[in-house]
Amino acid sequence: MIFLPKTDRPDLQAILDREAAKASGSYLKEEIVDQVEKDSHGKCYLCEDAEPTSIQVEHLVPHRDDARLKFSWSNLLYACAHCNGTKGARYHPILDCSRDNSVWGQVKLVFTRFPKARIEVWGQPVPGKETQCENTVRLLEESFQGKTPIRKRESENLRKKMIRADIELSQAIQGNDQTRVIGLVSAEASFAGMQRWTLCLNHPDLWSEIRSQIA
Ligand SMILES: [Zn+2]
Repeated sequence: MIFLPKTDRPDLQAILDREAAKASGSYLKEEIVDQVEKDSHGKCYLCEDAEPTSIQVEHLVPHRDDARLKFSWSNLLYACAHCNGTKGARYHPILDCSRDNSVWGQVKLVFTRFPKARIEVWGQPVPGKETQCENTVRLLEESFQGKTPIRKRESENLRKKMIRADIELSQAIQGNDQTRVIGLVSAEASFAGMQRWTLCLNHPDLWSEIRSQIA
């Protein structure tokens, strides 16, 4: 998970307010979805897959049919159906990647390719964020492992994408291609949070060298 700040758009909140006043208003208006997507760089904010085939606009705070939450611009985030379905209303409160610029450091992702692809999630909460951090860790663990027969398979596909991203990063590092490395850990890259941790833990010198150059 990385910091993905939302653009301040009072005009979009005005659209949402108008929709909220309708009997069957929708928060899935083109302008809304477009900005939610841009702010998230087209990535699911939870798993950070940049090529999700099933997309949803997710409510950070479960709305439970409360119109204020359902039609609140600041509560809308871009997610894949797998992560959103995993989250449901069960994981709350979680860290807010759109407001909290320290989320990356609070959720440590350790990816190993051998003997089989495995991703460990560790919480390192800042004071006062213990509950949010713990819930985020448990949510991501479930998202990466899957509990139901269907979600297990979805998670397996997600891990296959992570393997490819991990291989790409390894090759860029081995080839001393610093531009490529920076691209693979930049905010718009798939699994940027995980990739940054791989660099930070396994290649600390390179990480400290490029860290300031990452958007
Ligand atoms: Zn996802």
